Amino acid sequence: MEGIRSRDLLRKIKEFTLSILEDLSEGRSPLISIQRFRIYCANFDSNCGCRSNKPNGHEILTFQKESHVHRIDVLLRVLLIVQQLLQESKHASKRDIYYMHPLVFSDQTVVDRAINDICILLQCSRHNLNVVSVGTGLVMGWLRFFEAGRKFDCINSSNTAHTIPVLVEDVKDIVSVAHYILIVEKESVFQRLANDKFCSKNRCIVITGRGYPDVSTRRFLRLLVDKLCLPVYCLVDCDPYGVDILATYRFGSMQMAYDAKFLRVPRIQWLGAFPSDSENYNLPQQCLLPLTMEDKRRTEAMLQRCYLHQEVPGWRSELELMLQRGTKFEIEALAVHSLSFLSEVYIPCKIQEITSICHI
Ligand SMILES: [Zn+2]
Repeated sequence: MEGIRSRDLLRKIKEFTLSILEDLSEGRSPLISIQRFRIYCANFDSNCGCRSNKPNGHEILTFQKESHVHRIDVLLRVLLIVQQLLQESKHASKRDIYYMHPLVFSDQTVVDRAINDICILLQCSRHNLNVVSVGTGLVMGWLRFFEAGRKFDCINSSNTAHTIPVLVEDVKDIVSVAHYILIVEKESVFQRLANDKFCSKNRCIVITGRGYPDVSTRRFLRLLVDKLCLPVYCLVDCDPYGVDILATYRFGSMQMAYDAKFLRVPRIQWLGAFPSDSENYNLPQQCLLPLTMEDKRRTEAMLQRCYLHQEVPGWRSELELMLQRGTKFEIEALAVHSLSFLSEVYIPCKIQEITSICHI
């Protein structure tokens, strides 16, 4: 949804608020129709149409329903803030918006939902509203680009972490001679690779979203993939959170399903860690942790997702194996062999395995 102008959004906001005012002045409750989007369902055997970017039904907000009154109040307050941001060409984070009326909003998730509702109503992406992430992602490696006139030269210091730009739409002139992009779930693993000079030795780009990736990290990654056409690998912990983070990169998140098309990276390949790596790489028993009740519940819920059946049955088998064994482990556990085992043995072996399968 690039190229949407503030002027058009301001016009839409005006039309929307006018229609609400008209309803109220005539004594009617306004009916606000919000389309519903989803990235998965629990329907295995049919072509369910999730992730197609087409809405699956809609929700009608009305003052007649008590639970909707607060939601409409929040929606209109956030819409007013967005209108100001657009008029003044300013940017704000979701957190900034929350602190403008903390007593009314009561919780960050309430604001997040209102922002998503507004994107759906105005048919735009979040950055079009001038609402940005705080910027938690990091990048290093064989990459150079400009953001709003500022040069990011990662090639000259390919083992140094750079913060991923918040205004991804301002990123221009991307140049890279990398062989691939590696996503790692955690900052600790990213720092380990930086210390081991992984990027300069392997001519690659490494990115971390530091846990669940924010929108800027996912948009930046998507931009790199579109511009550079490089293979993308992902390294996560062998636990349900790791696999969910991997799924967020590949399929998008349910909260922002309306915008998934611009945020997901379908080509991403799961490099590890797999449950079977514990034998293949001789992990001692004490590195394996038992799955908690919450881990099991999460894994079972993930196994119900339609995209696992339809698109990545291999991921599903690994999750089933994890559940069957009842254990999990962190990527860092591989350091039991040696501090640099991950960068010198594990990752190169895994990439070799994937590329040799692809070439058969
Ligand atoms: Zn589905």
